[in-house]
Amino acid sequence: MQLSTEPEGAYLATARQHAVDEFIRIRREIHAEPELGFEEHRTAALVAGKLEDWGYAVERGVGGTGVVGRLVRGDGTRRLGLRADMDALPMAERSGRPWASRRPGVMHACGHDGHTAMLLAAARRLADDTRWSGTLVLVFQPAEEGGGGALRMMEDGLFDRHPCDAIFAMHNMPGLPLGHLQFREGPAMASSDYATITLEGVGGHGAMPHRASDPIVAAASLVMALQTIVSRNVDPQQTAVVTVGALQSGQANNVIPASARLEISVRALDAGVRALLEQRIRALATTQAEGLGCTARVDWRRGYTVLVNTPAETALARAVGLELVGAERVTLQGPALTGSEDFAFMLERVPGSYLLVGNGEGEDSCMVHNPGYDFDDRNIAVGAAYWTLLAQRFLTA
Ligand SMILES: [Zn+2]
Ligand SMILES: [Zn+2]
Repeated sequence: MQLSTEPEGAYLATARQHAVDEFIRIRREIHAEPELGFEEHRTAALVAGKLEDWGYAVERGVGGTGVVGRLVRGDGTRRLGLRADMDALPMAERSGRPWASRRPGVMHACGHDGHTAMLLAAARRLADDTRWSGTLVLVFQPAEEGGGGALRMMEDGLFDRHPCDAIFAMHNMPGLPLGHLQFREGPAMASSDYATITLEGVGGHGAMPHRASDPIVAAASLVMALQTIVSRNVDPQQTAVVTVGALQSGQANNVIPASARLEISVRALDAGVRALLEQRIRALATTQAEGLGCTARVDWRRGYTVLVNTPAETALARAVGLELVGAERVTLQGPALTGSEDFAFMLERVPGSYLLVGNGEGEDSCMVHNPGYDFDDRNIAVGAAYWTLLAQRFLTA
């Protein structure tokens, strides 16, 4: 069976010299046995075993189920970190692929199986490659999907025991042409915070509203007032999102309930805007509730931080992309995204850059987190070639 089919074009001449079929098989094996965040025991064991076979010093169980592989070559002093994520999502797969998930309700719908396979393929190649000198640190992290696995690895001493001068990560992106590389200097992915607002009023008979304090009216007023934060408080040149994703209260038409609850998602591409959003949401919750005879309790949960790609490392990442696939397959400064990514925490500590690789466009290109999604195996050659060249360029004697 022919497993790999190369994207058209000669740029993968180098990649083609190396067998990626082994890593396509590994990707499909990981895909068929997906594991949720901090439960990536099988995947982590597979990764750690391979790295050890190839001569890497391996540390298991970093931040739960994280794996670090380190290889030192020559007398180069620079230290390069490359990071992949390993976790799957709690959703049922409907891709129809022969290698579809064998675990009900769990699916690799974000392509982290592919990210892991790409970095493993690069690890295999770099183990035998003599065109670099220095320290290579390969980070396979758990729980990117909301679990903050990157932060857990850092709290567990990731960069204390494995210091890096720069770190890079790559995510696939449906809607971009297959193998296309997209870069961005500066803020590239949003912070994401969560608020639960509970409005307490005084319940009563629906026929006698003057004897009650109606939290539904306060909630409705608050939902509308929240819309003014982005339109009236945030600088029009900045990006911000305030989404009320849930509003729950009451059960009967003739009963005024005692409380209402709102669930809110808050995103920004700037730390100052992020702080402003929290301040305004808290203020509006309190004042809107008070003005309508209710009280507000705000439970604020900080999520991922803004992901900021540093200039020098992004310049290197772009140069490697141009060298590998040519200008027609590279976007040097793509748009920022309002999604979030916990690699942002690593970039708060270590300079680096996060890039996107196209997973294909057109009608059969399915967005990540969709039950029909699948990582395109042809990108394993692209990703492995990219990481290999980046290591060669960064880790010079
Ligand atoms: Zn995802
Ligand atoms: Zn993802």
